[in-house]
Amino acid sequence: MITFKTVTKEFGNGTVAVKDVSFLIEPGELTLITGPSGSGKTTLMKLLIKEHQPSAGEIFFKDQSLTSYRQLAKLRREIGVVFQDYKLLDELNVWENIALPLQIMGQKQSEIESRVTDLLQLVELADHALVFPSQLSGGEAQRVSIARALATAPKVIFADEPTGNLDPQTSNHIIKLLKKINELGTTVLLATHDAVVLDLLKKTRTLNLDQGELVTDTDPKKLKTTYTASDDQDNSDQKPSSSKSKTSSKTSSKKTSVDQDDADAKNSDKKNKKDKKTRIGQKLTQLTKLFRTQKPANVKANDQDQQSANKKTTTKTKKSATDSQSKTKNSTPKSTTDKPTKVAVKVEEL
Ligand code: ADP
Repeated sequence: MITFKTVTKEFGNGTVAVKDVSFLIEPGELTLITGPSGSGKTTLMKLLIKEHQPSAGEIFFKDQSLTSYRQLAKLRREIGVVFQDYKLLDELNVWENIALPLQIMGQKQSEIESRVTDLLQLVELADHALVFPSQLSGGEAQRVSIARALATAPKVIFADEPTGNLDPQTSNHIIKLLKKINELGTTVLLATHDAVVLDLLKKTRTLNLDQGELVTDTDPKKLKTTYTASDDQDNSDQKPSSSKSKTSSKTSSKKTSVDQDDADAKNSDKKNKKDKKTRIGQKLTQLTKLFRTQKPANVKANDQDQQSANKKTTTKTKKSATDSQSKTKNSTPKSTTDKPTKVAVKVEEL
């Protein structure tokens, strides 16, 4: 599923965050990545989602080299990330936060409703659908962030210090949830130096980093000798290629220079970010109109704080809410009491 082959990452300031690291993760594994703060755990995650390019070595995802892999949006749908500080959007309620990646992908409304309902059930937050992040406990916020990471049905979840801000009991709950997600078929990488987590997962395969070097792998897997080049045939994330990118697409099936690939990846990254920003703006407007004015049937009726906070936000958007109410009357979000037949962790390829 994931291979790091003698990967080194040196930043411009000379810091070597990851040094000559090799490992292979098989599909369905749960793997701990440990090491003190600054040992390179987050850098490994960023290399895997191509937020950073390796300075040396090569990374493979599903046996494809990431060196010339240009389908960044697809890659990031397939690798969900959970952060220590949750990174929820404060202006969006729980439902909207989980729905956002699906809205950005342009999923059908009915599919979004069904998926978000299932995910809320999975993380046991069905009765918090309309609550805003500021009203959630740390553990609840982390569960929302896990649900959001799962929204696009990723093959892999990389949880980066997911319990860093939580008490031991809540950490236990989050780890159980990640284990359950793993048991349902998702490959899970869990970066942590939290003693509570390490104690809970004593028998789990552990990659131990120290100053960027992999010092222990408790269950090392043999690296394959052959891997395929990037699958540039599937350009689902891309606009039709210019003659330049056609050329690089052709040559990338051989092996282009890392510098050229880095430049291409950066350009593609820049463009993706710009497109994404525009799409997020549009989707946020739609989401606000659709959900702010409505309330799933089983939201706690007696939660005064929650209700008044919702009201406050609703007042701000009163005019647009009133305008949109008539439009959305027939598309009420599925009540969170509706019974999903099965938790939709395994969902179709998006
Ligand atoms: P961990 O997640 O284990 O705490 P990191 O991967 O965040 O470690 O960091 C590893 C090392 O790389 C640290 O010394 C950190 O300061 C450095 N580092 C991380 N990101 C950058 C960056 N963008 N530029 C320069 N140095 C960085």
